[in-house]
Amino acid sequence: MITNLFNIPQQVLDSIVEDKYDGRGEDIFCSVTDLLNPPHQWNLLKKTPKHEQIIDAKDLLKAWIRTAIHKSLYETHRDNFKDEMALELRINEKFSGKTITGQFDYYQDGVIIDYKTTSTSNLQHYNKFGNTIPTKWEVQLNCYALLLKKSKGTPLTTELRVIVICTDWDEKKIFEDHYPQGPVIEYNIELNNYDKTERWIIERIELFNKALIGETKECEAKEVWINKHGVRTRCGNYCSVSHKCEGYQIHKSVLKKELRTHIDQTPKIID
Ligand code: SF4
Repeated sequence: MITNLFNIPQQVLDSIVEDKYDGRGEDIFCSVTDLLNPPHQWNLLKKTPKHEQIIDAKDLLKAWIRTAIHKSLYETHRDNFKDEMALELRINEKFSGKTITGQFDYYQDGVIIDYKTTSTSNLQHYNKFGNTIPTKWEVQLNCYALLLKKSKGTPLTTELRVIVICTDWDEKKIFEDHYPQGPVIEYNIELNNYDKTERWIIERIELFNKALIGETKECEAKEVWINKHGVRTRCGNYCSVSHKCEGYQIHKSVLKKELRTHIDQTPKIID
């Protein structure tokens, strides 16, 4: 079910909520992007039909903007492509008997490039901790390099890059601490040892298999983005199956009880 809590006009809403088929096929276990997300959430999403998932249109807006940017970049480069180049290339490969799919934005002469759209505050956050970009982007691109190697039977990748587009970059803030120094920034990513990446994929598949057979009841603490008030941001704001998640429902009722107790024990001011 798609809600529209912030009254996005119908004209735009129709385009945002349009259901796009991702072309993965039936025999796909999961995508590289899925592997970067919590196994338990993936399992619930897999088992919950689209019409039973709850998501607000404002949460689809970012994906809509991202798709529009990708489409524009694709159309710009499509006509200039040489034979050895690949745009929006999808590769499926088997690991531990499971098919993993990955679609990367751009490949040419050994260079894999992925486009990312994000907020400047997100990059600022990573800059502050000296990471410059999220680790999951590094892992994702290394997985693409491995998929390419497996599909061609030989390592082809020499460089990995992400091009990050900050959708809300503001020149007036350029002197703020850790503020990105431009609206579009390119980062080079280290190409890891292929065995290391393959081990990571296989370990993730094991965790996803456990979730699939019901051994995992909720996401791990590090996966749910707990804020300083103890609130699980991912569960509350970025999970369309939170109403189906037993662990989160228990967590919410405990929080409610604690809040109730706190209110009852707070001394009343009598004037
Ligand atoms: S509600 Fe939270 S714990 Fe449950 S699946 Fe969603 S993100 Fe994971």
